[in-house]
Amino acid sequence: MASRKPSAKARQREAFAADLGGFDDLFDREERRQDDLAARREEARYEKACASKNRYATRGEALDAAAACADHCRRGLSVYKCPYCNGWHLTSHPWKTER
Ligand SMILES: [Zn+2]
Repeated sequence: MASRKPSAKARQREAFAADLGGFDDLFDREERRQDDLAARREEARYEKACASKNRYATRGEALDAAAACADHCRRGLSVYKCPYCNGWHLTSHPWKTER
């Protein structure tokens, strides 16, 4: 009958795993951390692209606003359809522009 007492090596391994918070959970935790990061990045993108901006219901309204800005020395604004709110926003970054 095998001894039920864990070998010194097994005890060592357990202690090491416990130090790391357990191997089982290591990859889960890394995955959660990545998810958190992605969520925060997405939130920042939303804040920058949508929440912090004036919203226009139509492309025409957004273009009118851009034109009004151009009259007040703020030239080079483009408009884009927002993937978050489906409204339109102004941007000075033309690469965001969608037609
Ligand atoms: Zn938006």
